[in-house]
Amino acid sequence: MSATSETVSVTLNQAMRKDQSVAKNLFFGEIVEENLFPYPPLRDKDREVLGMMTEAIDDFLSPLKHDLKTWDKEAHQPADFIQSLRDMGLFGLIIPEEHGGLGLSNAGYARVLSQSSRHDSSVSLTIGAHSSIGMKGILLSGNDEQKARYLPRLASGELIAAFCLTESGAGSDAASIRTTAKKNADGSFTLNGEKIWITNGGIAGLYTVFARTDSPDGKMTAFIVEAGWPGVSHGPHEDKMGIRASSTTTVVFEDVRVPPENVLGDEGKGFKVAMGILNNGRTGLGGGAVGGMKTLIQLATAQAKDRKQFGRSIAEFGLIREKLSQMMIDCFAAESAVWMVAHYIDSGVDDYSVEAAISKVFASEAIQRTAHEALQIAAGNGFMREFPYEQVTRDSRILSIFEGTNEILRLYIALSGMKDVGSSLSELKNAVGDIFNNPIKGFGVLSSYASRRIRETTGFGTDKIISELHPKLKQCAEVYEKYAVELSKAADGLLRMHGKGIADEQYQLKRIGDITIDLFIGLCTLSRADHLHRTDSKNGAQAVSICDAFTQQAKRRMAGNIRGLLKNEDKERDALAAFVLEQGVYPWDVI
Ligand SMILES: Cc1cc2nc3c(=O)[nH]c(=O)nc-3n(C[C@H](O)[C@H](O)[C@H](O)COP(=O)(O)OP(=O)(O)OC[C@H]3O[C@@H](n4cnc5c(N)ncnc54)[C@H](O)[C@@H]3O)c2cc1C
Repeated sequence: MSATSETVSVTLNQAMRKDQSVAKNLFFGEIVEENLFPYPPLRDKDREVLGMMTEAIDDFLSPLKHDLKTWDKEAHQPADFIQSLRDMGLFGLIIPEEHGGLGLSNAGYARVLSQSSRHDSSVSLTIGAHSSIGMKGILLSGNDEQKARYLPRLASGELIAAFCLTESGAGSDAASIRTTAKKNADGSFTLNGEKIWITNGGIAGLYTVFARTDSPDGKMTAFIVEAGWPGVSHGPHEDKMGIRASSTTTVVFEDVRVPPENVLGDEGKGFKVAMGILNNGRTGLGGGAVGGMKTLIQLATAQAKDRKQFGRSIAEFGLIREKLSQMMIDCFAAESAVWMVAHYIDSGVDDYSVEAAISKVFASEAIQRTAHEALQIAAGNGFMREFPYEQVTRDSRILSIFEGTNEILRLYIALSGMKDVGSSLSELKNAVGDIFNNPIKGFGVLSSYASRRIRETTGFGTDKIISELHPKLKQCAEVYEKYAVELSKAADGLLRMHGKGIADEQYQLKRIGDITIDLFIGLCTLSRADHLHRTDSKNGAQAVSICDAFTQQAKRRMAGNIRGLLKNEDKERDALAAFVLEQGVYPWDVI
């Protein structure tokens, strides 16, 4: 049977529900099908630019393989190399054409970073820190005058940009920054403070800086600061574990006068500006991770085929095949989610922050698993610096640390979803009083959320949400439907049990976060597999197999997490942590 005749058609081109977040709706047991199906294509305009750009990147970076390795070792990027990146237009990727950039969408941009990451992570970071976070604030929150003044110079790379939020006392707790911006009588500000670990710190001409202004409207304000202004300086290149060639430095501001026209966004709203930039920028990081995984898959496959042990190619051994297949599953799942999120941003979906966090967490961990396993396949060779595995292993480690640690993002995913459930629960309580004790009473006045819950718990009225998939993918869809309902019940139950105290229940929040990650990543994988099954006659069946395998793995994880909400060793772990914190050391020895 052909792929087409087997396929039950999903209604194409359904209008997206831009006011809906897929991930947040999962907490209500709902799958926003219109925002998942059909899997979004790249814009034609992006496709044109990308064809040329990816080829140009390969042509430029492939011959520099040994130089890139040397620069990693020596921890620097030569000025003429950075000039070549400028010449290729790589600093203007997402800047609109009217300001001299290439005007790529988020999806197109992520694809470029994916290509450069196939060669070297430091290159991607130099380009990515500029676009994803360094100058993104001007695109998102800048006024017309600021855009006209800075974007053309940023697009050409005359000004490379950096994002200055972190300080020695303010990492994950970004709101606790100490850099100050004191307002002067003429409306200008005087900036004082030191930022640490700033990517592009040593090569930037423009910094997006966050400082305390303690105005009645808020505590933080964002500023555009030029590197050439008096009082701005940076420290030496940090000696890092990975992404060693990319510039990371401290940036110091000493009595720097910032004119009022360089306030970015509203005064006092700097935290919102920072979070908007980070949310929007996460697809760049995800795209880079996917590119890295593709290179690792290629290397690992060649290695597995070439290496012979026990008279056979190691590719014949089940434990090697298990690793290779997991790499494929991880890469496909990450790719499906990263480009779905990029599509949300490009389509103007109002709130994609949870989806962006999910794609960042998953992609960053997927590449680390992939690097670990690719190195293991190469084994002794993998450990030698002559081969690329160790560098990718070092380089990818940062991805779960910066742009929000994965711990903070897991909490964010869980709490953001539960916040909406919490509001619904309070509304519900106000509306119907003791309804939870008597579900029949007041049925007519229940909010849609409450009635949905009661349908679920009484087991009738639940519609199949994903109704028109290829039969092979239907089973996968049913798993996601089931666990979306489980998630909503779990969120509801935890909120009833802990109320606002849920914010401190981190063990439980991690389980909720992980279920949400599996659901959203799985749904993106499902949508892409469905699309490829229809369109890719050569490899579409493999995409379906990947979806099936991911779903089975996700189902086991989700079931474990649901069980873990009730039956777990959290108390014992907490006590053990308290014990070791008190002792400060592992107390036993065999002597
Ligand atoms: C190479 C590199 C480049 C960077 N580039 C930039 C840049 O360009 N611009 C910039 O502003 N910053 C940059 N950073 C900083 C980066 O964003 C921070 O390192 C990151 O936000 C984490 O902060 P921290 O390292 O101080 O860790 P901490 O916040 O001290 O966290 C330590 C650990 O505690 C966990 N933790 C913290 N709070 C909680 C909590 N409430 N609940 C549970 N766990 C928690 C964290 O997840 C982490 O595991 C960069 C860092 C590095 C290493």
